Amino acid sequence: MKKNTRQLTAVLVLGTAAAALAQGTTFLTIGSGSTTGVYFPVATGMAKMLNDTGSGVRANARSTGGSVFNMGAIASGELDAAVAQNDVVYYAYKGTGLQAFQGKANSKLRTMAVLYPEVLHIVARKDSGIKTVADLKGKRVVIGDLGSGTELTAKQVMEAYGLGFDDLGQALRVSPAQGISLMQDKRADALFFTVGVGASAIAQIAQTVDVSMVPVSGNQASSLLKKYPFYVRYNIPAKSYKGIGATVPSVAVQATLVTSTAMSEDAIYRAMKGIFDNEADLKAIHPSLATNFSYAKAVTGLPAPLHPGAVKFFKEKGLNVK
Ligand code: GLU
Repeated sequence: MKKNTRQLTAVLVLGTAAAALAQGTTFLTIGSGSTTGVYFPVATGMAKMLNDTGSGVRANARSTGGSVFNMGAIASGELDAAVAQNDVVYYAYKGTGLQAFQGKANSKLRTMAVLYPEVLHIVARKDSGIKTVADLKGKRVVIGDLGSGTELTAKQVMEAYGLGFDDLGQALRVSPAQGISLMQDKRADALFFTVGVGASAIAQIAQTVDVSMVPVSGNQASSLLKKYPFYVRYNIPAKSYKGIGATVPSVAVQATLVTSTAMSEDAIYRAMKGIFDNEADLKAIHPSLATNFSYAKAVTGLPAPLHPGAVKFFKEKGLNVK
């Protein structure tokens, strides 16, 4: 009898797995960024929603170097989806803008949703005397991780101030986690990070080092916005970090969730429902989503066409998309 029960259980378990396969359970690996950024907690939260809601999609989030790496990994099939800066997605889709994408347009890239603004944070040790972007000349500066979108932002913003990486004392290409240590140990004077407000890397630096936030404003910001249309002006609210008492003018791009035409309409539709159907649960993942996400904004300023599965989802939500 006991044996029969066990056999029956085995049959049921196998039956469930077989049913899942028959229904076409999709596996989705979502590329993100550093564990101390915002992409990683966001992608991890989304994967959890997919796994917990019986969406028919099994997902996991991967920590990576950032936007540029993620675009390459979607092209090679190593990632099924990723969070990335909208400017970087556009350049990857068009095969322009960055050396890494030159002549390699990935016309299969598709947008799932625009998520939240990513603001350029330039934090500087107070004892470095850096007050403006121009003061970065000759200093040791963390310009972003290998494969990051931050490096692109750093390059374009410095260019607006007439500087190149060669003008720095040292251009440090390291992860935000390493950047925290370098700032704490006085081996770096400043650090760039294009990231949602509240990122743990910036919070950790502000908590342990006397820092100021360097503004991006004036004519330089105007010329940047004119040359690179993905930027918008964005103020880092006062008190977002310890020791930063006043609002800091800066610039932002948008974090977007993207995938490719290699994923079926049905799979992405199920992923969209699992992640975005319950807005309250989505917003609970991170303050960046809580303060910024809406369906209307999710389909505004798309860097690549919407995936058919996303079109279906947003149409059901009453949006006029194609
Ligand atoms: N925008 C950054 C990048 O692409 C990553 C930000 C994050 O990890 O939240 O390099």
